[in-house]
Amino acid sequence: MPPDRPGRQQTLVHLSCIDDDSQGTELDVLWEREIDARVLPESGWTDLGRKGFDPPHLFSAFVHALRWNLVTSTNPRLFQSPYRAGIEVMAYQLEPLRKALMLPRVNLFIADDVGLGKTIEAGLIIRELLMRQKVIFAKLWAVSSEPTAPTTGIDVWMFPEWFVAQYEIQGPGKVRSRPLIHREALVSNKWLGPDKKKYPVVPIRFVQACLNGHISDIDWYGFVHDFKEDCKRQLYVDERGTTSDLSDITIRCECGKSKLLIVATQNPKAALGFCKGWRPWLGNNSREQCGGGNSGAQINRLLIRSAI
Ligand SMILES: [Zn+2]
Ligand SMILES: [Zn+2]
Repeated sequence: MPPDRPGRQQTLVHLSCIDDDSQGTELDVLWEREIDARVLPESGWTDLGRKGFDPPHLFSAFVHALRWNLVTSTNPRLFQSPYRAGIEVMAYQLEPLRKALMLPRVNLFIADDVGLGKTIEAGLIIRELLMRQKVIFAKLWAVSSEPTAPTTGIDVWMFPEWFVAQYEIQGPGKVRSRPLIHREALVSNKWLGPDKKKYPVVPIRFVQACLNGHISDIDWYGFVHDFKEDCKRQLYVDERGTTSDLSDITIRCECGKSKLLIVATQNPKAALGFCKGWRPWLGNNSREQCGGGNSGAQINRLLIRSAI
């Protein structure tokens, strides 16, 4: 640079930043004009290089991992947890994760169909939140199915408690007929057929709910017998046609009594009765007075469980 005073040269120094925050940022300074300009002694560099450098591929992996971490902890549309879980990734199982990450505060009730992998979905969410350091630890709670059962271990409250056995016989009028079984009649979660073979069961799709948000199993014995008899013989779900239309489904008792399911929607008061305040998602002993005792209990309404 030309001297500002005769006989006094200035040095233009071209600098490039090596600090993590602004790596590569360039700066030109006039060395003699800088306050406290210092050249770091060479010993600093020897310290730094003493252990040698990482092989380029290892370093590149480190940089990628760093970048990936930074992006995914701020972008709710990029996931890490599915790739860190020993699962086969199903697209629909990522949906709860996507929804959870969109929430300012994760508060999610997962209730899709049986066997779709709610546990996996919940696991993915917990793992993702842990990695994003949005939670420090996670605690799993499972409600006890028995009032006296100890609360340790994984024990789940079963709902609904009624199941349809995958065992088809021909009912009256050549309908397809399958046994309707209560949980307590299951043997190792299967139905014991007349041939002493065990058949798989699926939870019944029909439950009842009231306008106050209570939900419970339909009293199928009461439904079939108009709540008038104490008959406890084998129940069946009879289906005409293949539409699974409510008017094609009959609940039948071995004693001969039967009722079309559509009656539950036509006359819910008589067919399903009044709500008893069950809240199965809270576990056992979670009943409350429907309507709080003021407005009185609501009438039960037919609710059909379906997948999202
Ligand atoms: Zn009966
Ligand atoms: Zn209720």
